[in-house]
Amino acid sequence: TTESTRELLLSRIRDIPDYPKPGVLFKDITPLLADPAAFAALTDTLAELCVRHGATKVVGLEARGFILAAPVAVRAGLGFVPVRKAGKLPGATLSQAYELEYGTAEIEIHAGDLSADDRIMVIDDVLATGGTAEASLELIRRAGAEVAGVAVLMELGFLDGRARLEQGLADAPLEAL
Ligand code: AMP
Repeated sequence: TTESTRELLLSRIRDIPDYPKPGVLFKDITPLLADPAAFAALTDTLAELCVRHGATKVVGLEARGFILAAPVAVRAGLGFVPVRKAGKLPGATLSQAYELEYGTAEIEIHAGDLSADDRIMVIDDVLATGGTAEASLELIRRAGAEVAGVAVLMELGFLDGRARLEQGLADAPLEAL
């Protein structure tokens, strides 16, 4: 990422304090999505990472990960595979539960969407605690595919999601723009 791209992207992210609950600083990407130059720069940068790391498919994490991963997949000439919250995918799924601050969540993937020949790039907007990304890496491993990496627009460094992903990534990269 060039410094000017980084500055453009950063300038289009809006901080919303105390959303969705007190104490959370929400990183709102809707201004970036509404700016065609910024959205194109983000799409191109992520697509380039997919190619560089030898991905064969792009996995997007519901919901904002879908918005980023779909154009990236098209740009890079790769297939798009959704990881969804439990109960939303109609076919045979693999499910993975993970810990939240309070309680647990569950995500799913269509088992038939990935094969042993695939190398997967996981895309999302924000890496916070890393719980969602970690669970998605587990799904990819269980589906028999390889992990090419995780790419996010933003990493909230103070939550140390990077450490949580260490095992699931093995030697694959975590790219945070
Ligand atoms: P986590 O599993 O804790 O890494 O949370 C990741 C998911 O929650 C991502 O899909 C993000 O879109 C969303 N998320 C978590 N924290 C924030 C935040 N401060 N601003 C925007 N989105 C967030």
